[in-house]
Amino acid sequence: MNSHAIAAILNDPSREQLEALAQHAKDLTRQYFGRAIGLYTPLYISNYCSSHCTYCGFHSHHKIKRVKLTLEEIDTELAAIAATGIQNVLLLTGESPQATPVRYIQDAVVIAKKYFQGIALEVFPMSVDDYRALYAAGADGVTIYQETYDRARYKDVHLGGQKQDYDFRYDAPRRIAAAGMRHISIGILLGLGPLAEDLASLYAHLRDMEQAFPGVEYSLSFPRLRAIKGAPFTPNLIDDITLVKIMALTRTLFPRVGINLSTRESAALRNRMLEICVTRVSAGSKTTVGGYAGTATEGAPQFDINDARSTPEMIEYLKTHGFDPVFTDWRRIDNTQSTSS
Ligand code: SF4
Repeated sequence: MNSHAIAAILNDPSREQLEALAQHAKDLTRQYFGRAIGLYTPLYISNYCSSHCTYCGFHSHHKIKRVKLTLEEIDTELAAIAATGIQNVLLLTGESPQATPVRYIQDAVVIAKKYFQGIALEVFPMSVDDYRALYAAGADGVTIYQETYDRARYKDVHLGGQKQDYDFRYDAPRRIAAAGMRHISIGILLGLGPLAEDLASLYAHLRDMEQAFPGVEYSLSFPRLRAIKGAPFTPNLIDDITLVKIMALTRTLFPRVGINLSTRESAALRNRMLEICVTRVSAGSKTTVGGYAGTATEGAPQFDINDARSTPEMIEYLKTHGFDPVFTDWRRIDNTQSTSS
């Protein structure tokens, strides 16, 4: 779908069009996903960042307290998350290969493997070999957002560091798939670039990936930018109805693709979107470094949380509203052991 057709849908003020779109999305979601909802919890293990993205509170020029968890602290934090019943964890860092080299992330993954079936990463883009090393350590998924596909806008808001390299980032999903990861999540930051054009480019990026690597499981995310304290950046605010349309439209174009929604959004909106098209949600999230077991909770959060429900509360909500909370739908088979008798 091109950007003109997308803009026509997003700009159509009619209530009937919105309801028809939402109903179509809902039918497809039930057809392909039933009422299964995947659950995961994010853990920020570091907020060191050597990139300068004007819209992010972790950027290299922002005077915030920088924290990096020790391996012991990572273990303690992961144990606390696992105690809630969660089986999928997302490990995040800022983009600093110096402060958080691949080896450190690899060590964190090895610790996570003690507690979780699914280990996804949201870290700096890297080479195939580095992704392969993380896969071998136990990671099975990577999240990487292009943020905006508009090259001029991308240049305007990425003022320093590795993130300035548009093409290296754009090609990261291919390298991730080539390294053997089974799950890749891509997305755009809503409110950063030209909306309809960014959506058209995101859809084209996903179609390319589906063609090149059909065996990978893909999901999409649509985080909305918010103003950050102490930064002059002013996002274009995307209202709730536009967000609903974006996610519903995405479902009609990609019936089998997972759609994630984080605790950046309110409980009311997340509840509503679960009924329409969302298939994966974070639960009990903290966006400071650590924070689940009392280690290194200082430092500003990357973004404010709007759905503060704990993991048990989220599970309870899902169960009482006819959803099936899914803790794990995959288990890694260790094929490094000899199978000969
Ligand atoms: S968006 Fe990522 S790379 Fe950019 S400043 Fe924030 S943490 Fe660093």
